[in-house]
Amino acid sequence: MAESKKELDPELKKRLKESYDLPWRKELRQAMPVKERMRLPREKMPEREAEERNRDFCEVNVGIAPEAAVREARRCLDCANPQCVAGCPVAIDIPGFVKLVEKGDFVGGVRKIKETNSLPAICGRVCPQETQCEDVCTLKKATGVPVAIGNLERFVADFERHQGEVYIPPAPPDTGFKAAVIGAGPAGLTVAGDLAKKGHRVTIFEALHTAGGVLVYGIPEFRLPKAILRSEVEYLQKMGVELRTNYVVGKTADLDDLRRQGYKAFFIGSGAGLPNFMKVPGENLVGIYSANEYLTRVNLMRAYDFPLADTPVLKARTAAVIGGGNVAMDSVRTAKRLGAERAMIIYRRSRQEMPARVEEVKHAEEEGIEFQFLTTPTRYIGDERGRLKAMETLRMELGEPDASGRRRPVPVPGSECVTEVDLAVVAIGQSPNPLIAQATPGLKVGKWGNLEVDWATLATSLEGVYAGGDIIRGGATVILAMGDGRTAAAEIDRYLRGLS
Ligand SMILES: Cc1cc2nc3c(=O)[nH]c(=O)nc-3n(C[C@H](O)[C@H](O)[C@H](O)COP(=O)(O)OP(=O)(O)OC[C@H]3O[C@@H](n4cnc5c(N)ncnc54)[C@H](O)[C@@H]3O)c2cc1C
Ligand code: SF4
Repeated sequence: MAESKKELDPELKKRLKESYDLPWRKELRQAMPVKERMRLPREKMPEREAEERNRDFCEVNVGIAPEAAVREARRCLDCANPQCVAGCPVAIDIPGFVKLVEKGDFVGGVRKIKETNSLPAICGRVCPQETQCEDVCTLKKATGVPVAIGNLERFVADFERHQGEVYIPPAPPDTGFKAAVIGAGPAGLTVAGDLAKKGHRVTIFEALHTAGGVLVYGIPEFRLPKAILRSEVEYLQKMGVELRTNYVVGKTADLDDLRRQGYKAFFIGSGAGLPNFMKVPGENLVGIYSANEYLTRVNLMRAYDFPLADTPVLKARTAAVIGGGNVAMDSVRTAKRLGAERAMIIYRRSRQEMPARVEEVKHAEEEGIEFQFLTTPTRYIGDERGRLKAMETLRMELGEPDASGRRRPVPVPGSECVTEVDLAVVAIGQSPNPLIAQATPGLKVGKWGNLEVDWATLATSLEGVYAGGDIIRGGATVILAMGDGRTAAAEIDRYLRGLS
C-alpha cells in the first residue's frame, strides 16, 4: 500500500492508529489483496434522467444501494497514513468509517463520522470532495480514480435516517454555562452541536424563520432536500440545543443584551449574505436579481409554487446567469426548472478556472444549460417600461495570473455582442452583512467587511466572542464553515471553563 508523504497532527495520528489496529480492520485488510482492490471500478452515483429532472425540484442524485456501497468501500486501501483525513477540514476518520461500510455496519459508519461531523447527510451531498479528501486519496494517486468518499458519507447518513433511529449521544453533565450562537448556518450548527456535547447550554439565534443558512435559502431542493436539513437540525435540538428564529442580533437584541441574559460566550456565524454587483449600466432594471434574492425567493419562499405560496419570481424565456461558482450553477439550473427555454452561464474566464463543483457543472450541461466562457456583461438594455430585454457582452482572453493564481481575463476590444434576455441573475460573490459589526462596539472588521479573528483560536477582538464561517472568510464552503465551528467550539469550551 502506498505510504503518503504528508504528516498528520500527532493527536489525530494516535486516534487513527488505534482505529487502524482494531483486529477486525486487520482481518478486512487481509481478506482482499491491495492489487485486487485497485482493480475494482468506482461505483457510479445513480441519477435521474436530465430531461425529466430539469423540470422539477426533486433531487438529482438517487443515492447508491447498500451492495454498491460495500463494493465501493472495498476499493479503499485502508492506508496506514491516510491522506484523505488530512484533506478533510473536519478530519473525519475516513478509512474508519469506510471499513465499517465494507463490514456491513452502516450505522457504525455514520457514528464514526459523527465523532467529528454532525452534518454528514449534508456534507455527503454538497462538499467539494474532488478538491479535498478525494483529491489526496492514495487510490487516486495510484489509479487516477479515488474512493467515492462523499457518496459513501451520504449513503451511511441516509441509511441511518431511513431506518428511523438516529443515534443521540448521551447527555453529558450540565456545566451551567450559557453560550449564544448567532446564525444557524453550517458554522453555527456545528458550534452548537459541539458545545452541547460538552454539556454547555446553547441557544442559536437565527434571523430567518428557519435554520440552515445557505443550506436552506441558497442551495436548491434538487441538490439538498430540505427534509434532510430539517432532520439534521432536529438532531441538534434533541441534543439539547435551543433554536430561536426570527431573532436578528443587532436589531432584536445586541451582544450586551444577551450578556445580561446570562450568556458567557458568543459565536458569530452570520455568513456572507450581502450580494456583490458588477456596477455595469442598467443593473437596476426589472428582471435583474442578485443570486441571493433569486434563490431565496425560490428555495425559502417557494416561489415556484406561486400563487399557492405568497412570493412570486420572474419566469423567464431566456435567462443569463453571471458567474462560474456553485451559486451560479444553482441559479441557472433553477431558471431552467422554472421554464426558461434558454438558460446560460456567462463566465469571464474559461472552463478550467470555474470554481463550481465538477458534478454541478456536469449536471448543468446534461440539463441543457449553455455555457458562454470568456464573456462578461458590459451593459443591460431595458424596454420602455424599465424591464430587461437584452444584454451586451464582451469577449475576454486570459492574460497573466492574478492574486488568486488564476489567469486574469482581459477584454478583447470591439468584441461587443447583444443577446436578448429577459432575466439576469448576478452570482459573482457575496460579502458579510455589516449589521452585527455596526451594533457591536469594539468588534474589529477587516477590509472586506469580514470579522477579524486570531486564526488559531477564532477569537475576535472582544473577549469571549468568537467567529467563523463566511463572516470571516467571505463566501467559502460548507465544510470550511464547519471546520471553523469545530475549532471555535473547542476554544469556547476552554474559555468557559477558565482554561484559556
Ligand atoms: C447558492 C449557494 C450554493 C452553494 N453551494 C455550495 C456547495 O455546493 N458546497 C459548498 O461547500 N458550499 C457551497 N456554498 C457555500 C456555503 O453554503 C457557505 O460557505 C456556508 O453556508 C457558510 O456557512 P456559514 O454558517 O458561515 O453561513 P450561512 O450559511 O450564510 O449562515 C449564516 C446564518 O446567519 C444568519 N444571520 C445573519 N445575520 C444574522 C443576525 N444579525 N442575527 C441572527 N442571524 C443572522 C443568516 O440568516 C444565516 O442563516 C454555496 C453558497 C451559496 C450561496
Ligand atoms: S480513502 Fe483513499 S487515502 Fe483514504 S484510506 Fe482509503 S485509499 Fe487511503
